[in-house]
Amino acid sequence: MDPQTAYDELIGRSREQAILASCSAVLGWDEQTYMPPGGAAHRSRQMALLAGLHHERATDPRIGELLAIVEESALVAEPGSVAGANVRELRRTYDRRVRLPRTLVEELARTISMAQAEWVTARAASDFRRFRPWLETIIRLKREESTCLADSLASGGSARSVYDPLLDEYEPGARTTELVTLFEALRRELKPLVAAIVEAGSRPAGGGAGRDSSAAADAAAILRRRYPLERQRVFGEAVAAAVGFDFRRGRLDVAAHPFCTGIGVGDCRITTRFEEREFGDAFFGILHEVGHGLYEQGLDELHYGSPLGEAVSLGVHESQSRLWENLVGRSRGFWAYWLPMARRIFFDALDDVSLDSFHAAVNHVAPSLIRVRADEATYNLHIIIRFELEQDLLTGALPVGDLPAAWNQKYRETLGVTPSHDAEGCLQDIHWSAGLIGYFPTYTLGNLYAAQLFATAQAELGDLGDAFARGEFRELLGWLREKVHRQGQRYRPADLIERITGSRPDHRALIASLRGKYAELYGV
Ligand code: ZN
Repeated sequence: MDPQTAYDELIGRSREQAILASCSAVLGWDEQTYMPPGGAAHRSRQMALLAGLHHERATDPRIGELLAIVEESALVAEPGSVAGANVRELRRTYDRRVRLPRTLVEELARTISMAQAEWVTARAASDFRRFRPWLETIIRLKREESTCLADSLASGGSARSVYDPLLDEYEPGARTTELVTLFEALRRELKPLVAAIVEAGSRPAGGGAGRDSSAAADAAAILRRRYPLERQRVFGEAVAAAVGFDFRRGRLDVAAHPFCTGIGVGDCRITTRFEEREFGDAFFGILHEVGHGLYEQGLDELHYGSPLGEAVSLGVHESQSRLWENLVGRSRGFWAYWLPMARRIFFDALDDVSLDSFHAAVNHVAPSLIRVRADEATYNLHIIIRFELEQDLLTGALPVGDLPAAWNQKYRETLGVTPSHDAEGCLQDIHWSAGLIGYFPTYTLGNLYAAQLFATAQAELGDLGDAFARGEFRELLGWLREKVHRQGQRYRPADLIERITGSRPDHRALIASLRGKYAELYGV
């Protein structure tokens, strides 16, 4: 068989796999939005059948034969070329899949589906002992998975840490030792910065560059006034459309846990949840998912179903959501434009609120226990804690039974707060019960990439704050489309970030951005 024919068959198969996966995505979206509870059992049978079909096709030895033919040809000689990148990534996925024995995959799937139900009950009762045996099994299985995958790691060489193969699943090419160094540098800067903000925020006059005195005192209270749900939706959709989310190729619905799912070309679904007395929850939730959605809507349709037409990593995906949520949506320029409209829509809640007060409210900093509600300054400290704990769980340095105590101690040391029970401690996140180990660090990588990308965009496009204040967001989106979205998986995440920003993944841009914002708000 000639290499071009083999390559075409590979891409054809990859595209079919994507279409099959997109069928699961529609069912998954429906399950979390509109499916009646009675449909759960039938839905799980549908999902299991599709997952089985997907796995069978993904591990078909024919793929290995086709890859071998193409890899020996001139088609892949150029590493950054379309074929070079597609084949590199198809090889990576295939190698990972075939190394996992079917028995392990099935045992993990069974364990996870039961562990999640147990986790829901354990969290509701704040009873870690109930969840403990499930977590022990998951850790054991993930350790096995790591062993199976150890010599498959993409960019040459084998795993140096038991954590590496799991991390590599979500952030291809990332290595534990590099993240340890990067996150340590970040923590060293964040801890004193957070302490200084908290100290300044507790001063009665509010401080900071002559802002009005209500600004810092109980800044966040403004967001807990009454914001009627239907009006929140109208406002959220207006902002989503204005920053570029295309509602002819996407929609917004309500779900208990907000998410974004790219169904395929021309169809991207985002969700949020509305609460009358928590304006920020839904609004920033929408902007966050819109950021993910813009990435999905910006992927190159011509390459749909092949690596060049797919998002490159969870970290880069998260960089897009955090960029729109935090760097755009919590900026002063953004609210200079949107607050007047918000005041017209939420007239009883915002009548007396100045731009300064509102800007302070959406940037309020307070060390807290729950990650998903954490502010921009403390958020990454929550992630660093989880990153350290899951490494220790995996190596065995931390027995599962000691997790609650270790968790609480780290919160005390790092954030100065201590959970009073495990539901607001080590039982708060769904990830470990879902077998997602190695996933948390991609949240912080996303924040770091977002700051690096935004700083570069500012340097190339001029002051974006001024553009936002005029209601102009398309220039930034166009820049992200070209630099990030259209690239798909052409480069590995860290290489992509370096090509765009001139630096490897780095903490300095995020620290500089936080310092700038909090100097303006709190004078720290
Ligand atoms: Zn996200």
